[in-house]
Formats: sequence, C-alpha cells, structure tokens
Amino acid sequence: MTPPASRTDDHDPNSMPVDRARQHIRDHLAPVHETERLGLHEALGRVLSNDIRSPHNVPNHDNSAMDGFALRIADLHVEGSTTLRVVGTAFAGRPYQGTIGNGECIRIMTGAVVPAACDTVVMQEQVHAEGNQATFGTGIRRGQNIRLAGEDLAQGQTVFPAGHRLRPADLGLIASLGIGEIDVFRKLRVAFFSTGDELTSIGQPLEQGQIYDSNRYTIFGMLKRLDVDIIDMGVVRDDPDLLRAALQQASAQADVILTSGGVSVGEADYMKQLLNELGQVVFWKIAMKPGRPLAYGRIDQAHYFGLPGNPVAVMVTFYQFVRHALLVLMGQPNPATAPMLPAVCVEPIKKAPGRTEFQRGILFADVDGSWKVRPIGNQSSGVLRSMSEANCFIVLPESCGSLPAGEIVQVQVLEGIV
Ligand code: AMP
Ligand code: MG
Repeated sequence: MTPPASRTDDHDPNSMPVDRARQHIRDHLAPVHETERLGLHEALGRVLSNDIRSPHNVPNHDNSAMDGFALRIADLHVEGSTTLRVVGTAFAGRPYQGTIGNGECIRIMTGAVVPAACDTVVMQEQVHAEGNQATFGTGIRRGQNIRLAGEDLAQGQTVFPAGHRLRPADLGLIASLGIGEIDVFRKLRVAFFSTGDELTSIGQPLEQGQIYDSNRYTIFGMLKRLDVDIIDMGVVRDDPDLLRAALQQASAQADVILTSGGVSVGEADYMKQLLNELGQVVFWKIAMKPGRPLAYGRIDQAHYFGLPGNPVAVMVTFYQFVRHALLVLMGQPNPATAPMLPAVCVEPIKKAPGRTEFQRGILFADVDGSWKVRPIGNQSSGVLRSMSEANCFIVLPESCGSLPAGEIVQVQVLEGIV
C-alpha cells in the first residue's frame, strides 16, 4: 500500500529493511584465504586459520587445589579420627619423590603434583597437625581437592576452531599449551576516502562554507579497533575523474573500500553512474535512521561500501553493516552480534513506524540497581557529539512508534570489557 505523497517525514515505503540489507551483504562476502604464521604477541585480534588442538593435558598432572595433606582415603577409619605420619612435603614445581606407605601422608601445597599413591587432599584448616603427626576427622570424600590432569584441556581436544578471533584469555590458553606460533589469516586491507567539495583537511584554513573532514578520523578509529591494515586516501572532490581515479587506485590495493558522502539523493546519480562503470554496486535507501542512503557492491575484487556523509550516519552504518562484514572477510564465519539488552527509557521517544532507528543514549544504573537509559537530547545525524557522549544505541524496531517515558527499550552497549 502506498502512503499519500504528501507525507513529510523521510520514510519511504520502498526502502530496504535493515535485516534484508545485512543478509544481502552477507551473501556476497568472500573471506580472505591467505595466511601467515605469527608469534603469540602479534596474534591478538587476529583470526585463526587452523584449529588449535591441545598437544597434552592441561594440567598435565593431577595436582592439589589446596594447601593441606595428601593421603589415601582407605587409611582413614570410617568412624572417629585417624592419625597419620607425615613423611614429606610436595611443593608446586617440586614434587615429593619418596614413597608413602600405609598409615602415612604428605604435606602438599596448591598446584603441587598429587603423588600416585594418594587419592585425596584434605585442606590444612581441617587437620590437626603436630610434629610429624596429622590427625583427620570424618566426612572426607575420595578425590576431594584434586584438580585432575586434563581437567582444563584434554590431550587432542580442539581448543579453538579455525575462524576464532583471538582475545587476551585465548593467548594465555594457547601459551598454556606451550604453543608459541600460530597460523592466522592475513590482515584485511581497507582503503577509505571522504567525498565532498565542502571538505577541508586538518592543517588547511577553513574557507567560507567549508568544514573539516571528520569522517576520515572516525572511520580511522573504527577500523583501528578491528586491527585491519588502513589505507587513508584523504579527501576527494566531487569530480567524476578524481573519484574514478581514487576508486581504481583503492580497488587495486585494498580488499575493502569505504567512502563517506556522495550517496544521498542529490549526489547519488553521479556516483551511481561512476560505480556502474567500474563495478557492480547497488544503492539502497535503507529503512533506518540515521543512515538511510547506503551503497554496497564490488569494484573488481574489492568490496565497496558507500556510507552516507553525515557523521553520525557514518558511524551507525559502519557498526550496523560494515563491522560485521569486515569480521566475516577477516575469516570469522559467524561473528557474534552485539547483544541487545532491555532498559527502561526515562524520557519519551519520538519515532515514526516504518524504519529501524538507532538513537544514541546514555545507559546508567539507577539507585535501585536497575538499568535505565536516557536518549541524548539532539538526535540529528549531523551532530557527532551525540555519538561521543553516548555509551549505547537505543535500537527501536521498524514497527515501533513514539513511546512514553518508562517503556522498556532494547539497547546495544558501545563498549565491552575485552
Ligand atoms: P552527503 O552524504 O555527501 O550529502 O553529506 C551529508 C552531510 O554530511 C553534509 O552536511 C556534508 O557536509 C556532511 N559530510 C560529508 N562528508 C563529511 C566528512 N567527511 N566530514 C564531516 N562531514 C561530512
Ligand atoms: Mg557530499
């Protein structure tokens, strides 16, 4: 059904839903396949190209989880207390080498090898020790306080599958296997430039009607976080010859090309023609706000994303489309999507149904401990400060209209711990 032509907001009934655009992009992504071998220090944030299997058990011996005494449970009386002779001590890294006969036990420290002769560790707080005698009570279970060999990782077990992107704990886990070098996919090369006659680079004076090019810096920052190789191509004027040359140069050296600006209605025809000539690119009006215009396609082997020019729209489209695509291209088959969390919105929200909105918000814990969110005052897609102040997106689905204060909304938190 077509709404009346007099509609004044920018909702277009023929625009592409966010999920459909994501799926279309996903269907066209061909991940890099070249690999390189790296030392662990270089591998943070990189994607494994091979499974990593455990060459041995971790831990590789049964060891004590407590400071205490190691014994054979069969030596303890079923009822009443038992006194055993303490014949030595096992330290972490310095196992007890002697024998342990009937009626004997050893002192043992956390992490020390549990001798084969023992099957149980009793924590020292539950033992009465005097000289070389230790007295144990009842209620002791066989096997207690022993960390079993292979409990963390069993020999031969797949620790990480190919396609896993490495986080700090993963580096430690791989190190715990004694593995110092691993195979990862090569870095993705991403070239980007800003388009617009109004843009001035930092260091130049601002002429009347000019603005400084900020998108190139936010794009730089967002790419840096993903650990890709960055090719910053500067500002390119709205001139078909210059744009053609820049796109050709970018496609010759990059896996992905990002541009900002030049895809909105007034300017798109011009870019459309150029991109038609150079590759297969589709221009979308996405049913979202901000970030309605978006172009996606191929220029030779390179993937092309034409982001809108508005500074907030650049960031929203990057996080909602480009980031996930880059992670797939880097070799991650199923990158985790940002979790959506419910929070009570403390102010009313103005919104028209028919498009997904990514409003900027500040998520905070209220005095009662519940999570609340306050939308940033100015939601204009030109106001970059809103992104700087925000710590979350308030994600309002297509069907949702304006909301009174107190409604539960879904938020995506911008910052994670690792
Ligand atoms: P466009 O999509 O090219 O029509 O640009 C939309 C709006 O974003 C205009 O107000 C532009 O001036 C602004 N804009 C475009 N590119 C940039 C940039 N690189 N840095 C800051 N603002 C920009
Ligand atoms: Mg422009």
